[in-house]
Amino acid sequence: MTDTFSAAVLNWFDQHGRKHLPWQQNITPYRVWLSEIMLQQTQVTTVIPYFERFTKRFPTVADLASAPVDDVLHLWTGLGYYARARNLHRCAQQVVSDFGGEFPATVDELSSLPGIGESTAGAIVSIAFKQTATILDGNVKRVLARYHAIDGWPGQSGPLKALWQVARQHTPESRCNHYTQAMMDLGATVCTRTKPACDTCPLGDGCIARATGTQLQYPGKKPKKDKPVKATYLLMLRAPSGDLLLQQRPPQGIWGGLWSFPELALERSVADYCADYYGTPGEIEYWDSYRHTFSHYHLDITPVLVQLPEPSAGVMAPGQALWYNVSQPPAVGLAAPVKRLLEQLHELAPLSS
Ligand code: SF4
Repeated sequence: MTDTFSAAVLNWFDQHGRKHLPWQQNITPYRVWLSEIMLQQTQVTTVIPYFERFTKRFPTVADLASAPVDDVLHLWTGLGYYARARNLHRCAQQVVSDFGGEFPATVDELSSLPGIGESTAGAIVSIAFKQTATILDGNVKRVLARYHAIDGWPGQSGPLKALWQVARQHTPESRCNHYTQAMMDLGATVCTRTKPACDTCPLGDGCIARATGTQLQYPGKKPKKDKPVKATYLLMLRAPSGDLLLQQRPPQGIWGGLWSFPELALERSVADYCADYYGTPGEIEYWDSYRHTFSHYHLDITPVLVQLPEPSAGVMAPGQALWYNVSQPPAVGLAAPVKRLLEQLHELAPLSS
């Protein structure tokens, strides 16, 4: 059954599809396979000269199979993703050894060969063998994700399954070779990643992303790995003079070598800690927590302003320390959040003890 989707795509192919690319002439499974592997992650204009050099040097899959791998890699130089070239060579050898030098004509058999996934197998079956088979390469995923508004990153099994399902639904029984070519073209030239040309798209009428103006939300991005969250108190210990205690951080680790307020784990009691090192504290004021994000984790910081008794009343906590005068700040390197807090403190009236 040909649905309106595939009919629109085929109609567009007849009028606008590319039909003069080198691998669209003298179509053979070998040439289609070679072009499909080269086109993975690479644009058509880049691939054309490589395709021509390869088919001249290795006119058949047997020629490619019998060549030293170094020759293949040499000819591939500049095309990138060299695992493709190694798989290409291994695949050619397997076609010769296991299939008598003829590419098999089914998706299952093709997918068993090195470097051929289900989509590439579908492209070979439909274009070279003119059978019905479905493709789902990166370009087609983008078109279908937008047309059907399929959420999620296609690298995850749920969205991928949904995309394969609609891809199969739309695959026509007849002219599947042209449909396959057209879908790849449409994704590469009309439904592009950042600037889809919806006004000229044959699928514009039924496309949900276009109707809702959400084209760039599809397909979903790869989820970022969640960073762990740590939490700490930053103790703003203030002497009766108004000076604030800073400690120098160890050279390694966050804010290495910079000056910072002492940190205290949330499980600890601020009052007990201060009493241990500085004498019984006066007023303790917990400020609102905020998140500071490092490359590998989030740090939820709760600043705590503590009014200390006379410095002589207690023993200083270990480590390099200085009393910081906010009105006449010494020239020391400050951690960014500490600098901000000092600026806020500068604007505050001293606490009563
Ligand atoms: S209408 Fe726009 S978003 Fe939808 S398939 Fe066409 S180009 Fe892509």
